[in-house]
Amino acid sequence: MDIILPFMLDNGFSRGAFIAADQTVADVLACHSYPKVVENVLGEAILLALALAGNIKFNGIFSFNVRGDGAVKRLFVSVTNDKKVRAYADFDAEHLPTGDNPTNQALFGNGELLFSVAQLGQEPYQGIVQLTQTSLKETVSDYFRLSEQIKTDLVLRTKEGRHRCLVLQEMPHKENLSATKCADLWETQTVLLESVQDNELFDDSLQPEDILYRLFHANKITVFPKTEPCFSCPCHRSQMEKFLKTLSEQEREALYQDGKITVECQFCGNKFVFEKGEF
Ligand SMILES: [Zn+2]
Repeated sequence: MDIILPFMLDNGFSRGAFIAADQTVADVLACHSYPKVVENVLGEAILLALALAGNIKFNGIFSFNVRGDGAVKRLFVSVTNDKKVRAYADFDAEHLPTGDNPTNQALFGNGELLFSVAQLGQEPYQGIVQLTQTSLKETVSDYFRLSEQIKTDLVLRTKEGRHRCLVLQEMPHKENLSATKCADLWETQTVLLESVQDNELFDDSLQPEDILYRLFHANKITVFPKTEPCFSCPCHRSQMEKFLKTLSEQEREALYQDGKITVECQFCGNKFVFEKGEF
């Protein structure tokens, strides 16, 4: 079962989450037939989106959007407040890099990562950061360090179609802790986080709580109620119809093939067919 298990260390010095997203990633990928290299980076983006969405309280949609001028033009992941995930990639198959761990530069060329939180009745929040040369994980850490002044540490591991992530963020400093003490504590916590072994992360006999207690038994750890992310695409015929109705007669005319307009959902691949005369 997929889970996001939030936790807190040392009375709120830092907050984090353990994430397992095997089924969610598998269900997203099953909607598409992407090359392996695209599947891998989309899986990574889904884990990062869940890590970020799991740590903020919002009532709406969180989106994680990578745009580039290289072989991969776009990766888009959206997560609702109840952790329903959908995602797609747009790429030029002929120019995809080969090899196991291509860098951001090889995948996206020059690009940027945009986060946004859209909430009903509120101004949308948006963050933007240039992609680092190396990885999406580095880009996310850079964004929080540079734009938000929040130290962030991430562990991402994928093995045989299974996907795990650990995220930890330092919270605003406690007044009673000196800067040196804070730096020491953060250093210790990140060393512990990164010490997690694959044979722990992928051991089905271990509960996520057990893994966290093993890693942080010397710290005060508080674990919060888990949530269960899953794939879900809410696309609906009526949305597509509404969109088609916003087009001019002439624009619609150009879309007809054999008297029909077929609209495909880019997230899940569902096809909606409209006959002439429906508008
Ligand atoms: Zn859909």
